[in-house]
Amino acid sequence: MAKKPPQTQPRKPQSPPVAQTTSTPAKPPAAKSRGPNVTEVVDVKVSHCRKCHSTERTAYTNTVEREISGVTSDHRPYTHILWRSTKCAACGQARKDRCFENRKTERSS
Ligand SMILES: [Zn+2]
Repeated sequence: MAKKPPQTQPRKPQSPPVAQTTSTPAKPPAAKSRGPNVTEVVDVKVSHCRKCHSTERTAYTNTVEREISGVTSDHRPYTHILWRSTKCAACGQARKDRCFENRKTERSS
């Protein structure tokens, strides 16, 4: 009787599928995906210097917050107004950045 050795299958290490890194040259800089399939794009109005129109500024200091509600000139409701002191990084002009925040939570009254 021929002694058949048990068929030992060559062990394949179960390697995870390697993500194909296709190096596309036309990749926009700093295009880190921060979530799956985000289609909503909201334009943010960045504050700028009234003198030189630069948006470069120093870090905010002395944030003042007031619970004031209303509607902005572009018809957005807000519940709080914040003032933050900053300086233009380009020309040094000090200013206060005011922003309107709507912190209303969806609550059925
Ligand atoms: Zn400036």
